[in-house]
Amino acid sequence: NGLVKHFPLHGGVLGRQTGAVRAVDDVSFVVRRGRSLGLVGESGSGKTTVGRTVLGLHQKDAGEVRFAGHDLHALDKAALRRLRPQLQLVFQDPLGSLNPRLRVGDAIGEALLAHGLCPREALRERVLAVMASCGLGEEHYSRYPHEFSGGQRQRVGIARALALQPALIVADEPVSALDVSIQAQIINLFADLKQQGVSFLFISHDLAVVEHLCEDVAVMYLGQIVEQGSREQVFGQPRHPYTRALLSAIPVADPDARRERVVLQGEPPSPANPPAGCRFHTRCPQATAQCASVVPVVHRVAAGHQVRCHLMA
Ligand code: SF4
Repeated sequence: NGLVKHFPLHGGVLGRQTGAVRAVDDVSFVVRRGRSLGLVGESGSGKTTVGRTVLGLHQKDAGEVRFAGHDLHALDKAALRRLRPQLQLVFQDPLGSLNPRLRVGDAIGEALLAHGLCPREALRERVLAVMASCGLGEEHYSRYPHEFSGGQRQRVGIARALALQPALIVADEPVSALDVSIQAQIINLFADLKQQGVSFLFISHDLAVVEHLCEDVAVMYLGQIVEQGSREQVFGQPRHPYTRALLSAIPVADPDARRERVVLQGEPPSPANPPAGCRFHTRCPQATAQCASVVPVVHRVAAGHQVRCHLMA
């Protein structure tokens, strides 16, 4: 709620702070139990910073992150450690987060032992069960991370997160590095987990994947959410010019359903120096004079559907 995260920029011979990257600026959303919120936007929009700040891997500058009634950033270390297993992160490629000298079965079991969630004598059985739920057989238990393909490593990363029986998984571009057929397997696995009550904050630039997996969608541009709502609202009745431009680039099989292509000019400006007024005005095909100077507020255009744009006033 109202999450803000800026990263200081330092320069000059004295390394003084010269500015800040305004990675996340007043971001609010809700991830509901057993549902998936897709956070979409171009690279540099602040999606990853949101995910990491939610999990407490970055300290926030303002706002709050509430999980199951707790203000996560206000908890002391012991209380946070108790909650930690319920909040897990899955990366794009977990290879960098897996100890290359640890067999994957041991890597998955390590966290269970560290959090006192499983007695040592029952560990192997518990790890094998969670590996099986991710499509990894007993033969994979004793292998090392480098012996796995990209898709299998992603399953290992998910199994390691799942072993802790999380309530929320922050999945940051979890299928971007995978072949399309493997992507489908991992997405189906996520869908099964949702059925079991696991919630996802699903960070992706791939709108087709988000449309398939997520019931709720938030679109980010330069550190702010510009539109959010249900999948049907955001994909079916997009209102923000940026959302419309993003969606117009998705290939559609049905020629009658094809959207008019909106091509955005240029790259997003630097989050260290976002444009005044509406941050999207330098690229917006519908910008007016007002947009360059007046910051748009968030308008509620339907129940649960919010848009940050002057055109909605
Ligand atoms: Fe475009 Fe203006 Fe709306 Fe921003 S506020 S998205 S510049 S029309």
